[in-house]
Amino acid sequence: MTTSLKKSLIEKACESLGILETIEPTAGGLPVSEGDFSKYPPPEQWHDWTEYDASSWPRRQKKNYSIVPTTCFNCEAACGLLAYVDKDSGRVRKFEGNPHHPASRGRNCAKGPATINQINDDERILHPLKRKGERGSGQWEQVSWEEALNDIAGRMHNSLKAQRHNSIVYHVGRPGHEGYAERVIQSWGVDGHNSHTNICSAGARTGYALWHFFDRPSPDYTNAQTILLISSHLETGHYFNPHAQRIVEGMMKGAKLIVMDPRLSNTASMADIWLPTYPGSEAAVLLAMGKIILDEGKYDRQFMETWVNWHDYLQTVHPGDEVTFDNFIRCIKEEYVEFTPEFAAREAGVEAEKIVEAAQHVAEAGTQLAAHNWRSAGSGNLGGWQVSRCLHLLNVLTGSVGTEGGTSPSGWNKYKPKFFDTPPAQKFWNELQYPVEYPLAHHELSFLLPHFLKDGRGELDVYFTRVFNPVWTYPDGFSWVEVLRDESKIKCHIALTPTWNETAYWADYVLPMGHASERHDLNSYETHSAVWIAFRQPVLREFSRREGKEVQFTHEVNPGEVWEEDEFWIELSWKMDPDESLGIRDHFKSPYRQGEKINIDEYYQYIFENVPGLPETAQNEDLSPLEYMRKYGAFEVESSSYAKHLSSVNSEDAEMNEFGQYVRDGKVVAICDNGSAVAGFPTPSKKQEFYSKTMVQWKWEDQTIPGYIKSHIHPDSLDRSKNEYVLVPTFRLPTLIHSRSGNAKWLAEISHRNPVWMHPKTAAHIGLQRSGNLVKVETDIGYFIDKVWITEAIKPHVVACSHHIGRWRRDQDPSGNSWMTCTVKIKEYRDGKWKMELLDMVHPFASDDSDSKRIWWRDGGVHQNITFPVHPDPVSGMHCWHQKVRLSLPGPDEKYGDIQVDTNRSFEIYKEWLKMARPGPGPNGLRRPLWMARTLRPADETYYTD
Ligand code: SF4
Repeated sequence: MTTSLKKSLIEKACESLGILETIEPTAGGLPVSEGDFSKYPPPEQWHDWTEYDASSWPRRQKKNYSIVPTTCFNCEAACGLLAYVDKDSGRVRKFEGNPHHPASRGRNCAKGPATINQINDDERILHPLKRKGERGSGQWEQVSWEEALNDIAGRMHNSLKAQRHNSIVYHVGRPGHEGYAERVIQSWGVDGHNSHTNICSAGARTGYALWHFFDRPSPDYTNAQTILLISSHLETGHYFNPHAQRIVEGMMKGAKLIVMDPRLSNTASMADIWLPTYPGSEAAVLLAMGKIILDEGKYDRQFMETWVNWHDYLQTVHPGDEVTFDNFIRCIKEEYVEFTPEFAAREAGVEAEKIVEAAQHVAEAGTQLAAHNWRSAGSGNLGGWQVSRCLHLLNVLTGSVGTEGGTSPSGWNKYKPKFFDTPPAQKFWNELQYPVEYPLAHHELSFLLPHFLKDGRGELDVYFTRVFNPVWTYPDGFSWVEVLRDESKIKCHIALTPTWNETAYWADYVLPMGHASERHDLNSYETHSAVWIAFRQPVLREFSRREGKEVQFTHEVNPGEVWEEDEFWIELSWKMDPDESLGIRDHFKSPYRQGEKINIDEYYQYIFENVPGLPETAQNEDLSPLEYMRKYGAFEVESSSYAKHLSSVNSEDAEMNEFGQYVRDGKVVAICDNGSAVAGFPTPSKKQEFYSKTMVQWKWEDQTIPGYIKSHIHPDSLDRSKNEYVLVPTFRLPTLIHSRSGNAKWLAEISHRNPVWMHPKTAAHIGLQRSGNLVKVETDIGYFIDKVWITEAIKPHVVACSHHIGRWRRDQDPSGNSWMTCTVKIKEYRDGKWKMELLDMVHPFASDDSDSKRIWWRDGGVHQNITFPVHPDPVSGMHCWHQKVRLSLPGPDEKYGDIQVDTNRSFEIYKEWLKMARPGPGPNGLRRPLWMARTLRPADETYYTD
């Protein structure tokens, strides 16, 4: 349907004055779709869409597009994108949102459309590169894919033949492929999956997993009455754009927003109640809210009586008491007696009245409490996992687990694809990833890898880093440099990356991988109370297909020889097993062509054919499931999803005990709910585990229930007379994403500095006069010198610095990401001392992109993470990011951007934190509880040490 544009009075006046050229709404122009904001072309016109080219204005130049859906690859949310492929040039001209994506619904944050910058980046890596000279020397030669594949596959073949399975490791930064790499790694038979999760979210995940196995919350913000957020979800949080739009929806419908954050973030500024809690005090505040709910009897008795393992608690902790729910309530009131609002207020440095007010909103929300913690407090503090455990306690008390407007377990809102082939679980346990010291670690101890290698715990034959930049993103980056350059510790390092990064400088191969519109992936995330899948597809490949040209490999249509991991892994795995003696090829044979190598279309064809409801929906349009996904880019598997713990299950041969648990062969298999056997939660008790027997069995008898652990940066640990403060280094900017957005010029123009946020009182104490003054920030292993931003938007005694900025290259490194990368000089002294100083700031440069000559900013920020020691939490294994720092004015010779680090000291600190761990094995010689999730789970027998 079309409509005419009506001219406004102002437009008419401007035309008559000659300020605007005369606007002729439709005559001679293109029809405009009707609607509120009718920017989205209808899908039936996606291969033939004509609109005016905005950049040609005021000329009216038509462009004819083929519009191809894909998904954004700039953060974990995987929002839908539509790529506008200019049919004349065959190039992508812009990205907009995909209205058919159930999570993002046509909207994106700034990083989505900025994908166009990334694919057009003049400095991107276009060909496979192999190191010349010494590692890190900055010398590279172009090689063919064939050459790279043959060498790498040959090395891996030899390692497997030599039974060196634990010497092959794949280390992923940004995953987003729903099990693809995991399946590949298991086909190799190695326990070689390593992730970035322990510097990201393992803390919060542990707290949730102890409650109900699932390790993330899925809040139903839209239908909530109260939204309780730890940190800044509204503008930068996990699943940022899908969550932000639903938080706003909830607020527009009247939900109250409570935000705990020491910074006045954009989210906090929108809150009804902002609690600027001292970092690490969050669990105390949450427990104070819980205590109010308990004391005032506002808890959901019906939910708790059925769904909490209160009987386990009473039987073990109060064996003399009668096992009744009322006794449980009495006992936990005693447990939390010290958590008065006044106590929490002292810990947090907020007003007790505000805590009480927040608690009332939580209590009033009842089953409509949507709550979230992802990184933030869960990842900043020693014991951060208790923050999410205490946050979820409020969901349990209010009965808002899995309800409309409440908070569901993540797994209920996420689709798991069915693969054409599932390799058997590997028969190896790699202690470099899951060491004995951390039996409960939620994910791999990835940030300790350099120390483990230095400690002589192993060596790597083949090490893949995949969209992963630990030298820059992780703490203690110089320790990474020390092991990455050491060929006796890492024999072959392959960096799979779309752009140059600080880790790739120390690779043997740098293999260019595609951005969002240049690759295949399957996405599904718990963005809201539904289940969906989305298809990231290489848009020029789909465009070619629409134009009648078949493509064998995605690198044929991508810029240069840029490829994608999906096809790379198929080819590599095939080559690893030339004589089929390793059994790897069996897992890469087509389900449709017997004995032949699978291709990427067949891989997704099989998955989509097995998505419930998709074949039927596709059939309605006379499409195959794969064709449907190529056309729309997304599919909603379930439109709403609540209360899955109430799914019926078979309780045959099981006996029901007095607590409503059906028990078969000593294991709880179901729960009785209103006389029916239902699935419950996948914990040992099948209930919400307020009391964790697992923690008892694994030597954490003192941490069995939601509690408060004083953080390593608790005020008691800081000496104010020495100007010791807490540095919060974890907050995201809405416009950047770790080290990956450095080649997006629009984003770099918006955000390219990371000054230290500091309250005026703190600044005055240090002697800083104004924003822009330099401050020396000393950590336990070194220091960095940054500018200060003096603002009341941060709590006194707390300073904060965003972690996206401070990119660098050395003189010898290839240019890349020049929009926000400074050139540095790195000096290495004896005894593990390293120094970095700025040689050159960001500046205009010549390229095919005329904008590169227009760069007006010089600042590229300061790399703070490299000055942080590792802080492994002894339970979750999470790196506890917050730092105790000493603030001072720099000396006369100290300059902006100076960095100094002592890696010997960082090794000592690694050992100090290691002593806090309570190593396994646990019961029956187990390395880890069998019921807890483990990335790429190996065979059960490997869980036993003997
Ligand atoms: S929130 Fe932004 S960066 Fe993340 S996937 Fe969506 S559009 Fe991309």
